[in-house]
This record gives sequence, structure tokens and C-alpha cells, in this order.
Amino acid sequence: MRTHVADHPLVAHKLTALRDENTDSLTFRRLADELVTLLAYEATRDVRTEPVEITTPVAPTTGVRLAAPKPLVVPILRAGLGMLDGMVRLLPTAEVGFLGMVRNEQTLEATTYANRLPEDLSGRQCYLLDPMLATGGTLAAAIRYLVDLGADDITAICLLAAPEGIQRLEEQISDLSVPVTIVSGAVDERLNELGYIVPGLGDAGDRLYGVV
Ligand code: URA
Repeated sequence: MRTHVADHPLVAHKLTALRDENTDSLTFRRLADELVTLLAYEATRDVRTEPVEITTPVAPTTGVRLAAPKPLVVPILRAGLGMLDGMVRLLPTAEVGFLGMVRNEQTLEATTYANRLPEDLSGRQCYLLDPMLATGGTLAAAIRYLVDLGADDITAICLLAAPEGIQRLEEQISDLSVPVTIVSGAVDERLNELGYIVPGLGDAGDRLYGVV
């Protein structure tokens, strides 16, 4: 597993505003959207392309276009939805699948409650969206789910990660031969006893959509 932490002043600036408890939902959604676009730029560094012949007003030339099969973007419901627009803005030809996962707040185990994904992901590059890599359980389960469907290259984009979560995720998927990359806006200090990232930003779903 490869981990890439964004090292960019714009990412740090937007994350600081996102973390602030005084930031309202509307501003939080806008900031999350902008942050994802910045992180997506890094996360798509190895997106597959193929050559294409075009003619400019001056001369014929060979350019590139995104290769088939199209990349698949998979937000993990509910909080990952807040990252979807920012991602597809950068990858407009991508297809979108959905994975609903919920974390049991007592055991911190993740279970799947919904999925809307192609049945066969053979040869697909997949981009998982989940704002918080906390214990790593949700992401490990989601990665395994995509690998079982045949995905052969997976990148997870997170706004924030906890060091314990990154380590645990790495252990939990160590048996997989599929390349996995984590791209995160920052790695925070630690997890607290409730499984929240410290200092973090609180519950990402609640901050995006209000408490339900
Ligand atoms: N999920 C969140 O939304 N926030 C955390 O800090 C950890 C998990």
C-alpha cells in the first residue's frame, strides 16, 4: 500500500477552515468539494491514458485521452457523497458506483448495507471516496469488496487520516496483490477512545448533511 499525503499550502488552508467548528454545513460542503479536486489531481497521476491522433489549427499531433474501460469513482455513503462532485469535475468521463457502509459505533466494525456497482470490475481503475480514514475498517472492507469484483487498481481519497488507521488498513489488506494507494489531505495525531480523529473535524457526515 502506498500512502501519499498532500503537502500543499492550499490544502492546509482549506482543511483548517473545514476543521473549524464554526464552519457551517454550506461552507463545509463547498470546502470539501474544493479539497477533493485538489486531492484528485494527485490521485489521478497514474490514471490510464491511450494515444489519440488530433489536428490542431497548426499541425497534426498525437495527444492522450483517458483509456477504456472508464475509471470508476465510488463514494462510500453517506459522507463520501460530499466528495463526488469535486472528483467527477476532474474526471468527467468516469462512471460512478455507490457503496453504502456503516460503522458500528460500539465494535467499530464496518458492514455493507447497499451497493450499486458494476458486477465485473476487471481491468478497472477505481477511486474510493471516504473523507475520514479513522480505524481503517470501512476502507479495508470497501477495498476488499472492489477486489472481489475484479478491480485491479484502487486509489482511496480521504480528507483526513489517523496514523493508527493507515497502519491497520495496511495490515488488513496485506494479503491483496492489487495495488492500493491512499491519498489524504493530512495525517492527524491519533484516534480518541470513540474512534474519532484528533484533532480531526468531527463527524464528517453530520457536518456535511446535519445530524440524522
Ligand atoms: N468518522 C468521522 O466522520 N469522523 C472521525 O473523526 C472518524 C470517523
